Amino acid sequence: MERTRLLTSFQDFGLADPISRALKEENYVTPTPIQSQTIPLVLAARDVVGIAQTGTGKTAAFALPILHRILEHRIKPQPKACRVLVLSPTRELSGQILESFNAYGRHMRLTSALAIGGVPMGRQVRSVMQGVEVMVATPGRLLDLVQSNGLKLGNVEFLVLDEADRMLDMGFINDIRKIVSKLPVRRQTLFFSATMPKDIADLADQMLRDPARVAVTPVASTADRITQRIVQVDHSAKAAFLAQLLQHEPVDRALVFTRTKHGADKVVKGLARAGISADAIHGNKSQNHRERVLAAFRSGQIRTLVATDIAARGIDVDGISHVVNFDLPNVPETYVHRIGRTARAGADGIAISLVAGGEEMSYLRDIEKLIRIALSREDRRTPGQREAVPAASQHRGPRSAPRVHGTRANDGAPGSKGPRRRRRPGGNNGAPQTNRHEGNRHEPMRPSSSSHGGGKAEGMQGVAFLHRESRPNTRPNRTQRPR
Ligand code: AMP
Repeated sequence: MERTRLLTSFQDFGLADPISRALKEENYVTPTPIQSQTIPLVLAARDVVGIAQTGTGKTAAFALPILHRILEHRIKPQPKACRVLVLSPTRELSGQILESFNAYGRHMRLTSALAIGGVPMGRQVRSVMQGVEVMVATPGRLLDLVQSNGLKLGNVEFLVLDEADRMLDMGFINDIRKIVSKLPVRRQTLFFSATMPKDIADLADQMLRDPARVAVTPVASTADRITQRIVQVDHSAKAAFLAQLLQHEPVDRALVFTRTKHGADKVVKGLARAGISADAIHGNKSQNHRERVLAAFRSGQIRTLVATDIAARGIDVDGISHVVNFDLPNVPETYVHRIGRTARAGADGIAISLVAGGEEMSYLRDIEKLIRIALSREDRRTPGQREAVPAASQHRGPRSAPRVHGTRANDGAPGSKGPRRRRRPGGNNGAPQTNRHEGNRHEPMRPSSSSHGGGKAEGMQGVAFLHRESRPNTRPNRTQRPR
């Protein structure tokens, strides 16, 4: 790990004036640990491998010094070319990264573009026709743009791979290799991943030159502020229980998770019958619909959003007071990612999980093992059903390990301070459409019981990354091109 003097103020970095002004407007005063470590290295033209999760401020950690370096040597981008290429696994994350670049670069007339699946390519082709400074993209669409001669990669000076482990999990490895093979060898590469298993480390080794390594302690404080409730209910009573809950709990914003798309629609219909308006996002909905619903959820127009894990990936909304697991996920890490959607930005949060039947009870036990907390259960089952499943009192708690989340992270988790990214409706997004690349492709995959077991190997690691965004709840075949 690189030893760097930790800088405690943004002024210490000597960032160019237009960037400093934007930071003031964003109310960024103190750099987060990943920013303190990464910014000086990037300014010094080093390649960087960073282990950091979403929520640690890593976007600014790479965006700010890159913007500074662009300003140091401002040149007009070549037509159909970009100076900075950022690859990220999802459309949502890509959009957020672009918004961050635009927010930090607002006083420097930054030119930027987004290339994501799910929208017609024509507009994206036009947006890079004159060349842009910053291009944020998902790998599949970027390759399409390149292959259709809409974009050339020979002028890229900075490459950022964000959430590299997720990109590999999502099967983007071949796309990434193809993209990298088209980039100039002389470039600066920044590589971020929440985890660093061997295949990710190998990929980094192949792509980076003498990289500096940085890592930040995970944002583990989230779980401290989340009240976790387990409610045992009959299967058939889940919908009614949810409606009751939403009526009686002091809900600001509730995110309800279901395992399937069909399940999400059913929940919305059930809530509608109970007079509660809600909307669903999942892979069958168009990008247009997803964006509209998300905007309504963000603005408070919709109080209850029902989502599948895949669709919820990359949702970055503050003020979610309740996460409800209508179905318990069968990969325990998914539970941790789901509940991490609440208690953001320093707020408290409530996570309520409805557990019905022996299968979900076994998922619950795996979750407890992972988080090393025995969660107390409320039993709302009808008496006849109780014998069917081991009662809470008979349940042997998880390993007697201590609660792991007792330490509140004071490592400057940015979510607790800074404003959220500016959302620019429309922005560079093209008109929405069904996504060919990053859309439905993972949605129908229901994890098999073997993936369940597979999750355990990473279990303890999952504990360490409580703030990480949701990952697909499967271990997809990494060789499969997700088209
Ligand atoms: P990220 O991990 O990049 O997704 O950032 C998480 C959130 O923290 C975003 O809403 C940022 O706007 C915010 N943020 C990043 N760095 C800082 C900082 N130094 N001070 C305050 N907020 C920040």
